[in-house]
Amino acid sequence: MEYKDLFPQKSHTSKYDCLLFDLDDTLYPLSSGLAKACLQNLKDYMVEKLGVEPRKTDDLCNLLYKNYGTTLAGLRAIGYDFDYDKYHSFVHGRLPYENLKPDPVLRNMLLSLPYRKLVFTNADKVHALKTLSILGLEDCFEGIICFETLNPIHKSSVSDDEDDIEFVVSTSTTNPTTSNSASTSQIFDIIGHFAQPNPSGNLPKTPIICKPSEHAIQLALNIANLNPHRTLFFEDSVRNIQAGKRLGLDTVLVGTSQRVTGADYALESIHNLTEAVPDLWESDIKSEVVYTETLAVETTVTA
Ligand SMILES: [Mg+2]
Repeated sequence: MEYKDLFPQKSHTSKYDCLLFDLDDTLYPLSSGLAKACLQNLKDYMVEKLGVEPRKTDDLCNLLYKNYGTTLAGLRAIGYDFDYDKYHSFVHGRLPYENLKPDPVLRNMLLSLPYRKLVFTNADKVHALKTLSILGLEDCFEGIICFETLNPIHKSSVSDDEDDIEFVVSTSTTNPTTSNSASTSQIFDIIGHFAQPNPSGNLPKTPIICKPSEHAIQLALNIANLNPHRTLFFEDSVRNIQAGKRLGLDTVLVGTSQRVTGADYALESIHNLTEAVPDLWESDIKSEVVYTETLAVETTVTA
């Protein structure tokens, strides 16, 4: 089936064609405790799997997150090498998923919105699928753009073919590099670097593509064939919002009602969308976009 048949262009009386949603702390609240547990798992991973001194994990997490977007991206930049699937399994596998509950209110709201809807997360596909499933939202989205989409192992490049709706690539992405192969002497001392009075020199680059890099967001837009000027981007991260705004996206900061520079809207909760952005329901779009169960499975699981 042709892509354009599956996702017909909307009437241009509507301001948007697509709603692009971050996952964690956007489609469910920060109060779930998953983010906090994830941070602790990241620190445990560093100590148990990479031999990082426990007293350094706080600083390391902060610096890597700040400079590279995700801890994974930062660890790779400073010289650690590890299997991405095992890393994701460690940091997400023990999350308190039991704190998440089905969200029928959000589900009904999403299904009533007659636009293309996509998830765009730095997390891996296992976590994304599991989380959406628990929330009861697995069939509310056309596809998921996740870690494996932007960082494919078995593909030389991510397809930007508009007929390619398999946003999630291989189901068996194994990093071919060896595990924990870098010796301590090969690791860039980022804590020492920033402890200098005037840190100089360039930081090592990461091979990982993730938000908030503009390259990552642009790549996601290309993969999903999105016009940034007709896409509304939902995020709990201010820096991701601001990166999206630089690329022309309209933006909704989720998790606070305090608007910041770069945010067109700010919502305490995604549930406040109806009151905050009523225009979304006021267009004269006649046809709803309906995702069948089969399609949702194909777009999110098939390699
Ligand atoms: Mg988030």
